[in-house]
Amino acid sequence: MDCLFCKIIAGEIPSTKVYEDDLCYAFRDIAPQGPTHVLVIPKEHIQSVNAINSSNSSVVAHIFEVIPEIAKAEGIAEEGYRVVSNIGERGQQTVPHLHFHIIGGRDMTWPPG
Ligand code: AMP
Repeated sequence: MDCLFCKIIAGEIPSTKVYEDDLCYAFRDIAPQGPTHVLVIPKEHIQSVNAINSSNSSVVAHIFEVIPEIAKAEGIAEEGYRVVSNIGERGQQTVPHLHFHIIGGRDMTWPPG
């Protein structure tokens, strides 16, 4: 499949690994929006939050168990951070493979742009 993040999982495109297990892969964003910016993706290709359903949602639950572990390892768990998933055109999703941004190490603003 011609998917950037599937190629990253396959090792065809280099990335800086932060965490990996059978179900998911986490790596540093190439254009970090904060001192910590990690992307967590399911190894299974799921296009976006819109494509989550009862047959694939267990990987999302798993990712949300992994996220706080990554935050702790990055040293941002206590001070706080943001988890974001952009969906589709208006959500400004640029890579159509489900991913959760973990952004931290600075004060966030609200509302997001
Ligand atoms: P989104 O815009 O929500 O779809 O997020 C896609 C993210 O992937 C952006 O934050 C990009 O900076 C990041 N990105 C794109 N290509 C790469 C890459 N080769 N390695 C790491 N991060 C990437």
